[in-house]
Amino acid sequence: MDSLFSFPSRATSPAPGPDGSGLDAALSALRTVFGYAAFRGQQADIIDHVVRGGDALVLMPTGGGKSLCYQIPALVRDGVTVVVSPLIALMRDQVTALRELGVRAAFLNSSLGAAEAREVERDMVRGDLDLVYIAPERLVTPRFLDLLDRTKLALFALDEAHCVSQWGHDFRPEYLQLSILHERHPDVPRIALTATADVQTRNEIKEKLGLTEARVFLSSFDRPNITYRVVPKKSERQQMLAFLNENHGEDAGIVYCLSRNKVEETAAWLNAQGREALPYHAGLPAEVREANQDRFIKGEGLVMVATVAFGMGIDKPNVRFVCHLDLPKSLEAYYQETGRAGRDGLPANAWMAYGMADVVMLRQMLEQSEAGDSHRRVERGKLEAMLGYCESSGCRRQVLLNYFNETLAKPCGNCDTCLEPVATWDGTIAAQKALSAVYRTGQRYGAGHLIDVLLGNPTEKVVQQAHDALKTYGVGKELAKAEWQSVYRQLVANGFLTVDLEGYGGFRLTDAGVAVIKGQRTVRLRKDPVQERRRNVHDALRRQSGRGGSSFSTGGGSSGGGRATLSAADDALWHALRDCRTELAKEQGVPPYVIFHDSTLLEMVHQRPLTPDAFARLPGVGSRKLDRYAAAFLDVIHEHG
Ligand code: ADP
Ligand code: ZN
Repeated sequence: MDSLFSFPSRATSPAPGPDGSGLDAALSALRTVFGYAAFRGQQADIIDHVVRGGDALVLMPTGGGKSLCYQIPALVRDGVTVVVSPLIALMRDQVTALRELGVRAAFLNSSLGAAEAREVERDMVRGDLDLVYIAPERLVTPRFLDLLDRTKLALFALDEAHCVSQWGHDFRPEYLQLSILHERHPDVPRIALTATADVQTRNEIKEKLGLTEARVFLSSFDRPNITYRVVPKKSERQQMLAFLNENHGEDAGIVYCLSRNKVEETAAWLNAQGREALPYHAGLPAEVREANQDRFIKGEGLVMVATVAFGMGIDKPNVRFVCHLDLPKSLEAYYQETGRAGRDGLPANAWMAYGMADVVMLRQMLEQSEAGDSHRRVERGKLEAMLGYCESSGCRRQVLLNYFNETLAKPCGNCDTCLEPVATWDGTIAAQKALSAVYRTGQRYGAGHLIDVLLGNPTEKVVQQAHDALKTYGVGKELAKAEWQSVYRQLVANGFLTVDLEGYGGFRLTDAGVAVIKGQRTVRLRKDPVQERRRNVHDALRRQSGRGGSSFSTGGGSSGGGRATLSAADDALWHALRDCRTELAKEQGVPPYVIFHDSTLLEMVHQRPLTPDAFARLPGVGSRKLDRYAAAFLDVIHEHG
């Protein structure tokens, strides 16, 4: 492995001064090293602030471009930048990508042998590195703190800063000790970064990391390139496979399931259908998990079927879809999981199948949990918000952002309800029938039996319980079974019914439900879309690249016409470029996206550069990648001329 690269523009870039030359140096690093033309969003402000020695707390969604916010200051400021990162895989990927760009970066964690670690430490103290990634538990050891005392430090970057939150899923106790850095090195600026959207975590980070004085840079948490879709469950696997075949025949993506069993079964089923899939859950041996993760990251087109154990620290930029076969238990979880799609800014899909059984199961899990009452109330509120999202007849993105205290003035135009508006109808009478069936059968049954009663199906159970003698028997023939299922789902989602805790998840009326029966309130319901219209994401990808300018200017509103399909010639070139990338990646044992992102390949298809100069102008082509890879890719382009 080549260990130390000299950083090309470093020698020539001026030291930052109070006159703004820091930002000039930053821009030059952005262009020559990373190959990008301009900063995005708040990057310029953040980098300027940090280069000048200010502390910063950066709250930006996944894919927002957080890494550059400390990587560029690391190149511009004198000394070594120490990056605290919680996961070995994450560190390794970042360091691989940086080295690929010619940046002097290394990591220190338990995956290194003693001799290798010593070498990295020596380089650090000598100032032969620009960035050192380190695991928090190692950072706070006396030995490393002593090394830091002997190192010229440029910056401390605290990545995944939400790990300091004791209430979050990713809590890492060692993060609580990180304030020691500031105590020992008060003059070294700090930048903490996270993609966690909620306000409590934000405050906890400030307090626990001693960043109350830091400037806060808060970005919108919208992910405009993700298309959100929720479909009513019929046969979930078939529905998903159809969606994947239609939109993501060659793409990599993640399928989330609630249980380990379901993960295994779904992965096996997908393979049997000819779609290559791997399982991932906490019950698998560590070697298997690691191997599967590695294959997912390095491969193209693999489907990872996983429980929530999979995801953190996966920064594969071209995850094109995230599917949920089970309902996540909160919108926070949903946002985080779907957020793993489309980190590269190109169009991506978040697809979820949702049905009554999900609601019943989650409610039961919740009610049976050991948690105390107040905690349960919070969890129940979260579940209700999740259900509200599923049953929304308005823009899903508005519901989602609203939950994170952000407002989106107009419907997004890039979710299913925007793309294929759902009709609503006055469901008061249907709701009264559905609720009275619940009441008259003793508030003990779930949707299946109740629907038999409404439809007048003389099943064994109906007859046995003498429910064919009830007034509600057979009064619901105007709706089909699937429509009644939708009615019940919405009655639960909207709080007219609750799910019984004991036993089999029977429904009970709430006060709101009683009010409906008494004719004191009306109910509007959404009609389930009859047919899912599908959009071809490959088309979208190509349309995107055909827009000209930056391939990252992903607007939300990609609905409607103007869909240019890629010509056969473009398609052939796209595949040839991908093969070329795969080969180079294999040779070096790195993930393909470390060579070039999809967005860069798509620009190659679009612009068809024929000279190194033209190649250098592609986004994502810095000086080092130009030297190493231009020839190989130019050959491919010439062959397809
Ligand atoms: P985050 O850490 O916030 O999830 P990353 O730092 O991984 O996001 O950046 C997401 C993607 O955006 C990466 O592919 C990165 O190369 C790209 N990117 C970041 N900043 C820019 C920029 N200024 N111009 C073009 N692409 C950028
Ligand atoms: Zn929308």
